[in-house]
Amino acid sequence: MNRRLAQGLTGDAGDRARPAARVVVALGANLGERARTLAEALIELDRLPLTRVAGAAEPIESVAITLAGPDEDAPAYLNTVALLDTSLAPSVLLEYLHAIEARHGRARREGEARWQSRTLDLDIVAYGDVRSDDPALTLPHPRAAERDFVLGPWLAVDPDAVLPGRGRVADLLAALRAEETS
Ligand code: ADP
Ligand code: MG
Repeated sequence: MNRRLAQGLTGDAGDRARPAARVVVALGANLGERARTLAEALIELDRLPLTRVAGAAEPIESVAITLAGPDEDAPAYLNTVALLDTSLAPSVLLEYLHAIEARHGRARREGEARWQSRTLDLDIVAYGDVRSDDPALTLPHPRAAERDFVLGPWLAVDPDAVLPGRGRVADLLAALRAEETS
């Protein structure tokens, strides 16, 4: 066990090497060869140290969401959700996700640009039961409960999924869809 990777650069795992946590990662792509990018990213996730991919949903297509709302003119997204078992600390995992994004040609910019089209977006939806309001890594992801394209694939790959602090993913998705059609 590599304790530095498991403890994080800021020591966020405490003194001991951590046991594997169940982590939910959302993958999205709306530029380039989307399906291929997602498939490659899943392989790269599985190759991360102290990490294995325990499951991944069939990718689904969805309209791009920008700061102004849904944008039918922007290229559509392909989204999926992967379940990981990892002993990497949350901050270390996020750094690896950013490295995978960068390898797939994603340029990172601040401000409004964060809503722009991208070859690959990797978000940590949940890391076990960990709660954090750190803007650099908010856990669970603050917008997960409002995103059909996260909840749908997550439910498909784990019918018993629970979003920590928010409840069962099946209930959250039903509520979201009821709201969308009302
Ligand atoms: P978004 O995914 O919201 O469209 P970005 O991928 O550009 O935006 O991420 C912006 C920043 O969000 C990242 O640099 C990261 O530090 C931060 N962030 C906060 N919480 C999370 C999380 N749970 N998963 C991924 N990134 C997060
Ligand atoms: Mg992101």
